[in-house]
Amino acid sequence: MFEPGPPVVDPGTEGGAVRAGRAVLITAARYRSTSYGANHPLGIPRVSLTVDLIEALGAVTPAERLDSRRATPAELEAFHTRAYVAAMQRCELLGRVPDRYRRRHNIGNYENPWFPDFYTTPATATGGSVQGAEQVLAGRIAFSPAGGMHHAAPDQARGFCFFNDPVLAILRLRRAGWRVLYLDLDAHHGDGVEAAFREDPGVVTVSIHMDTAYAYPYAGGGLEDVGPLGNAVNLPLPEGLTDAGYRHAFDTLWPAVAERFRPDAVVLQAGTDMLAPDPLGRLRISNRLFLELVERVLRHAPRHPDGTPRVLVLGGGGYHPLALARCWTAVWLRLAGRPVPERLPPAARAVLEAVDWDLDEDEPWYPRFFTHLLDEPVPGAVPDEVRARAGALLRRHPLFRGRARALAGGAP
Ligand SMILES: [Zn+2]
Repeated sequence: MFEPGPPVVDPGTEGGAVRAGRAVLITAARYRSTSYGANHPLGIPRVSLTVDLIEALGAVTPAERLDSRRATPAELEAFHTRAYVAAMQRCELLGRVPDRYRRRHNIGNYENPWFPDFYTTPATATGGSVQGAEQVLAGRIAFSPAGGMHHAAPDQARGFCFFNDPVLAILRLRRAGWRVLYLDLDAHHGDGVEAAFREDPGVVTVSIHMDTAYAYPYAGGGLEDVGPLGNAVNLPLPEGLTDAGYRHAFDTLWPAVAERFRPDAVVLQAGTDMLAPDPLGRLRISNRLFLELVERVLRHAPRHPDGTPRVLVLGGGGYHPLALARCWTAVWLRLAGRPVPERLPPAARAVLEAVDWDLDEDEPWYPRFFTHLLDEPVPGAVPDEVRARAGALLRRHPLFRGRARALAGGAP
């Protein structure tokens, strides 16, 4: 079922480096007002703080910015039901969520609460991710940090996600005939995206995440969950995993998948809840490793004729505002072909110090948050369990067995 695409070519761009001026950052002024409400894990500055930090570093030009447009109801209905899209619009107008919508669509509760611009804000985030796909089709590399809402289902909100922008961005690339490799780095299983493409052989979904035995969504995402076509790849990780173990898991899996499937584009969900300080995540990864992973994705990605990686990066989870903004800023610098500074200049420090967040003041790593962009590596060995799981995935997954031999042109 998997036809090999063109070989991955690397026209001399070392380590997946990107030429300056080929990246686009897609945001909107509306992310300055808080969504979700003060008592929700997402009621923190995220995209706006990231943009402020990037600007404080002087790391974005007007030509590299794109204002996000709002997705139309018709666009949303390429994945979501008409009833759900209409309910979201109606609740925004009403200023509340009627009981019948709460029950049917899982909205207006603690998990997926009502807030002002309840429809417009997620529709704008989705529009931005679809625009990102269009930018990649047009020859650029794009970052839509308000996107990455990977849990949303066709008729329901799930896990803080209202509209599934990764699905709609991938569908945009599919409409152009492109084969897409989706890589979900969020600490949680990318269940909504996996489910959407389980019958599309033109998409492979890869999710590396906290084992659902101890983490949301509490089902699925196991090594054996490969979907009816074998195009779903899942690597669940044990609690507390640190840099070395994660790097081992990633390095075992990612180059092998990229080489087997040979997509026309990569869509990367870059949720930051795997970072060590994250209050909801239970992995302990440094942003230094996170950036390394992004570099590896760029290195193994297909490229436009001028060498620019065909990569769309989306946001995702991430519940520590400072950890998130530092990480996504470093990601943007890399995508934009700019150097990543070790030390933060005073203007950047001021942006971070202005954030109302005092939960970690006594942590030994906390002062570094304001002086350096990248964390120290988090020490720790590779657990045997991780070696075993990553090895088993390569041995047993249909993508790497039988079919893989045929793809490589060997004997059947
Ligand atoms: Zn998450």
